[in-house]
Amino acid sequence: MTIGLLGAMVEEIEPLLEFFKDYECIEYAENRFYIAKYKEHKIVIAYSKIGKVYATLTATVMIERFKVETILFSGVAGAISKDLKIGDLIVAKALCQHDLDITAFGHPYGFVPEGQVCYKTDSKLVNIAKSVAKDKGIILKEGIIATGDQFVADTKRKEWVGKIFEADALEMEGGAVAVVAHSLKVPFLILRSISDAADMDAGFDFDDFLKSSATVSAEFLICIVDKLIEKN
Ligand code: SAH
Repeated sequence: MTIGLLGAMVEEIEPLLEFFKDYECIEYAENRFYIAKYKEHKIVIAYSKIGKVYATLTATVMIERFKVETILFSGVAGAISKDLKIGDLIVAKALCQHDLDITAFGHPYGFVPEGQVCYKTDSKLVNIAKSVAKDKGIILKEGIIATGDQFVADTKRKEWVGKIFEADALEMEGGAVAVVAHSLKVPFLILRSISDAADMDAGFDFDDFLKSSATVSAEFLICIVDKLIEKN
């Protein structure tokens, strides 16, 4: 099968490139797509750049041009839930866009006509992630991830996002990938390791923990790839 592995920043895919080693690089849409062969399967790796628009573009290119049959996202996120500490892992059971707001017309936050507030992740992929966590004795939280085009470093804002969307973590790409993959009927999974608590220290924590948390997420994602391949 052809599997797409996506991150937002170079730090999020560097551990993947190190692992899959021999890859070819194809330039397209002002981005680079790394193609590797792994156990008779094709792996397409890219980082989108930060934010929903770039994530949308890259996920679409992966599906339409590189024909990936599944998209697995690995990266870092800010914690909302008090259970989540720096380095912990969360897999999204659903994703929403916390900055999408046409409430002036009586719609709920995160909703536009003919869309959905929340997009569910593929349950088979979530189950694979859970079984990897079980095998390895790693705690993996399953929760809602809220996406928006802003780095949240504000306790009030994060609590608002937590309350309105029942979200456990927030980031800037997952909800966009979810809309693309749902619309094009490609199973997807969004995995994140916590880099900060989306509070006033978030900027400093992010800089300190980006690399280590991105590596935690990428290493877990590789185990998901192995298990997914076993089943296909
Ligand atoms: N330091 C970077 C900007 C990082 S933006 C630079 O200067 O270029 C934060 C990235 O990490 C986004 O890709 C987002 O998905 C994720 N993220 C981690 N913590 C976050 C938070 N508190 N709020 C929003 N996104 C966060």
